Amino acid sequence: MRTPGRSLRPALAAAVLATGAALAPAADRTVLSIGAHAGDAEITTGALLARHHRLGDRVVMLHLTLGEGGNPKVSPVAYGEQKRREALAAARALGAEALFGPWKDGQLRDEEETVRYVADVIRQVKPTHVITHWKTSLHPDHAATHRIVNEAVLLASLEGFESAHPRHRGLRGVYYADNWEDAEGFAPYVYVDVTEDLAAWRGAVMSYEFIRGGISTFPYLEYYEALARVRGAVAGKRFATALEVDPIAKKRVLDALP
Ligand SMILES: [Zn+2]
Repeated sequence: MRTPGRSLRPALAAAVLATGAALAPAADRTVLSIGAHAGDAEITTGALLARHHRLGDRVVMLHLTLGEGGNPKVSPVAYGEQKRREALAAARALGAEALFGPWKDGQLRDEEETVRYVADVIRQVKPTHVITHWKTSLHPDHAATHRIVNEAVLLASLEGFESAHPRHRGLRGVYYADNWEDAEGFAPYVYVDVTEDLAAWRGAVMSYEFIRGGISTFPYLEYYEALARVRGAVAGKRFATALEVDPIAKKRVLDALP
């Protein structure tokens, strides 16, 4: 399902530009963070989600798969059940709602069925802000999620896409998360101060065994805490979450210099 992608960029640019002007009042936002595998959204955007929950906004995570193939010592069925429990605990700790897609780890494709599913979730959740994976990734599921979400954002806004829910036109911006697996070509653009939310993030992501250590050799907790410190240092904050946007969305049109 690639056709909508062609016409998507201007729509996205408008959505992001509309956000640029002023910060919305608290409780005015719904932030939807969409990850390929349970754990992706929390490890990369959990501090930001905790912050928005604290500000009174609604925060939702959609995990397209459980990431159930990530533990060589446990069957995908057993590890999937564990990941679902861990994801629910992490969501509770962040003050977020958790939604689970029906797909299997390693089998995400940007096909019509997947795009329509995500478009329908967007119509139901009605996000003001969507965050997902950057376009290039070591993991094919992550790269597919980027394309699926961008196509779904457009589809959700179109009258012509018929589903049980009305079209959603309230999206102000699509952002991409700072993920070690999606680092190629990722240039931080937006920095959000999460100094007061890092403890909540740490508590939430520790719900996952793969983040506590013992499954993967990748030092998730140390990497992402150090990353938040590095992004914060550049932003003049203690800790920050950095996000990328589409290149065309970086165009700003002003009446005069700010
Ligand atoms: Zn992942």
